[in-house]
Amino acid sequence: MTNEYSTQPGDQPRTWRRLGAHTLAWVLPGGAWGMSNAGLVMDGATALLVDTQFDLPHTRTMLDALTQQLPNTSIDVLVNTHADGDHTWGNQLVSGAQITVSEATAKEMAVSPTPADLYALLDLPTGDPLGDYMTDLNQPFDFTGIAPPPPTREFHGELGIAVGDTNAQVMQLGPAHTSGDTVVWVPDDGVLFAGDLLFVGVHPVMWSGPIQGWIEACKQMEALHPSIVIPGHGPITDAAGLAEFRRYLEYVQAETNRRFDQGMPWRDAAADIPPFNPAWTNPERIAVTVATIYRDRGGDAPGGFNEVMTTVANLANGTLRRPRVAPLPAQDMTEVARHALDTTSTGGLADRQRNAPPLNIFATLARHPDLFAAWMPLVWQLNDGVLPAADREIVILRTALRCGAHYEWDQHAPVAHAVGLLSSDLAAIVRGPADAHWAPRQRALLRLVDELHATTTVSDHLWQDLTTHCDERELIELIMLVGMYHQVAFALNALRVPTDACVGVSTFPGIPAN
Ligand SMILES: [Zn+2]
Repeated sequence: MTNEYSTQPGDQPRTWRRLGAHTLAWVLPGGAWGMSNAGLVMDGATALLVDTQFDLPHTRTMLDALTQQLPNTSIDVLVNTHADGDHTWGNQLVSGAQITVSEATAKEMAVSPTPADLYALLDLPTGDPLGDYMTDLNQPFDFTGIAPPPPTREFHGELGIAVGDTNAQVMQLGPAHTSGDTVVWVPDDGVLFAGDLLFVGVHPVMWSGPIQGWIEACKQMEALHPSIVIPGHGPITDAAGLAEFRRYLEYVQAETNRRFDQGMPWRDAAADIPPFNPAWTNPERIAVTVATIYRDRGGDAPGGFNEVMTTVANLANGTLRRPRVAPLPAQDMTEVARHALDTTSTGGLADRQRNAPPLNIFATLARHPDLFAAWMPLVWQLNDGVLPAADREIVILRTALRCGAHYEWDQHAPVAHAVGLLSSDLAAIVRGPADAHWAPRQRALLRLVDELHATTTVSDHLWQDLTTHCDERELIELIMLVGMYHQVAFALNALRVPTDACVGVSTFPGIPAN
């Protein structure tokens, strides 16, 4: 979305963005720690402000911009969506406004960390992972002079507030992110201010939980059918953004529960879960959410804020999520392994690999030279077989998606483009076989991937369909191809093969629901 506030990371917006007749949004770029959004519901001379900023200077900038844009409007009500400082520590600058929060948020505000608590973390010695991490994230902010006034109105459940002739529905949908999460719904404009029940393009943190409560909160927000949704962090979105975020929560819930049930310690689980969408920033925050799920299930939850945040810091600085088997430096490869890479094959991957440093997946498997040497010819053969190249890449990309193997996706997306697939084809691979984009043959191939992935076999019905599109050699090759790329995905995920330097920002679209 391009608009007047899409500034560079680190910049503050200069203006409030008009959303509808009665609604405006203040959106900070990036959505990282403390970079929180705010909202306004207004009608003529009166307004309701949704949240303040993390410090007084940021709040002042936001309020000054509002005075400039709407000089005759005064803020009569301030709603804090939850207790976190990045939404409340500017409250004292909204003088005269009635400060409205849910009862649970009021309780949490009384015991939440204060600016002094944050400053104490900044005093940790240099080299302490938590101190370094906190210094980094607090760098854009100045916490001096913060003295938030207590809330003046508490509510439970739902509260309708008249703003002139328009109506703001204030609804508590937590506990989830925190204990009292609240959203503000403006039906006249179809605008939902979701607070930190929604993060866009950035990983959320779940301090309170339960995660099922957060998933239910997402469903309640989706049921409002908003046309515009303002997250607590990240760019403005719509109902589709809500649905994607809910799927993220369902993914983390399932992945965490599986590891809990296997008896994996929480810290290992936090390091082990592959990102749902590697393009989202602050992936280290998953540690907070995993810790909360473990705590809810009575597991080996961390003792307190500092302990969980130290794990967040260690995830961010790479101490925790290291390759389990590091790729072999090119000069250390044995003759056997080197020979296996030296290919006379043509076709997708072989073409890309020629004259390039070995991909990390190959350099990792080359630590077992004989196995590697026996395996590589099959890789080249499947990349240069009887299947048309475009069909081969459709199958590989769908397999990568189903397996959550973003490395595989990022390597094969350029190959797919090189053999003629378009961005619209890749988008349809994500939407799956039911999508109207597909011709019958490609639809059958996508179904094949999904069935093999889910059931390890192929139904009679699908087989019948496949035989009308593919000959015998193609059928055998297809099944071996899906199997091969599951094998590669297992290796990538389980050995934690690091992203190759030649890959820039990951384009992996997230694991599909269907
Ligand atoms: Zn926040």
